[in-house]
Amino acid sequence: MVSSSLLSSVARRLEGKVAVITGGAGGIGSCTAKLFCQHGAKVLIADIQYEKGHSICKDLGPTSASFVHCDVTKELDVGNAIDKAISKYGKLDIMFNNAGILGPYRPNILDNDADEFENTMRVNVLGTFLGTKHAARVMAPAGRGSIINTASVCSVVGGVATHSYTSSKHAILGLTRNTAVELGKFGIRVNCVSPYLVPTSLSRKFMNLGEDDPFVKVYSNLKGVSLEVEDVAEAVLYMGSDDSKYVSGHNLVLDGGVTILTPSNM
Ligand code: NAD
Repeated sequence: MVSSSLLSSVARRLEGKVAVITGGAGGIGSCTAKLFCQHGAKVLIADIQYEKGHSICKDLGPTSASFVHCDVTKELDVGNAIDKAISKYGKLDIMFNNAGILGPYRPNILDNDADEFENTMRVNVLGTFLGTKHAARVMAPAGRGSIINTASVCSVVGGVATHSYTSSKHAILGLTRNTAVELGKFGIRVNCVSPYLVPTSLSRKFMNLGEDDPFVKVYSNLKGVSLEVEDVAEAVLYMGSDDSKYVSGHNLVLDGGVTILTPSNM
């Protein structure tokens, strides 16, 4: 018979671990923060949404979660967030580079402007780069760590979102692979999680839906199954936990099989 203490330690897959989650005040980030705390982690939410971030931490409990204001495009902010995790919790085991933006859908490149392109690249790519760099700064001397980047199905296919977003998510996959090669020497794993459309503020804005409008059912290859933020959080939990100890440089695509379809079987 399995003892109850063994069962609870198996059930709490991040016991004693410390995580920083950028974009932690948003849909995927806050759901992941909640799941991480349920699994025994201490979480630092790093986001530009001050009130929302604080309110999420209040709900999660002051011993489990705290907030730091952090604009991921600013190196000082990112460095400060990592330093805060160390000073508050003593170490950093998991870095979840998840902050991201997506502008309204404009399929015609002539309707896309340079400022929007640059801004998307700064938040999505530069933000992931800075989060990886500063996480590596403290993880490498410790000889361990898991860095998880939120990419998207747009890291492997074109034509789903804006040009800037698709470019940025392909770049995140490239950065993930490059850093996985380098940081593996220090015991650090680096992976991507790549969801298809999942209901959050970001995707609602993209699809021109209000916060209370029903989310449009997104086509996949799996009949009757839709992707929820909880599913993405579970994938991040896997990548953050020791269950994935031999997984690095991987892109875990959560797309219901849609990106493997060809015109003949659509
Ligand atoms: P969301 O808008 O709910 O959350 C994004 C969070 O990022 C927000 O809390 C926002 O304040 C924060 N943020 C934006 N700019 C920032 C900055 N400069 N510094 C710090 N924080 C910043 O959206 P979401 O869907 O939860 O997005 C999370 C990630 O998931 C993004 O990287 C997004 O590209 C990716 N993603 C989302 C979907 C989807 O369908 N929702 C699909 C694939 C990938």
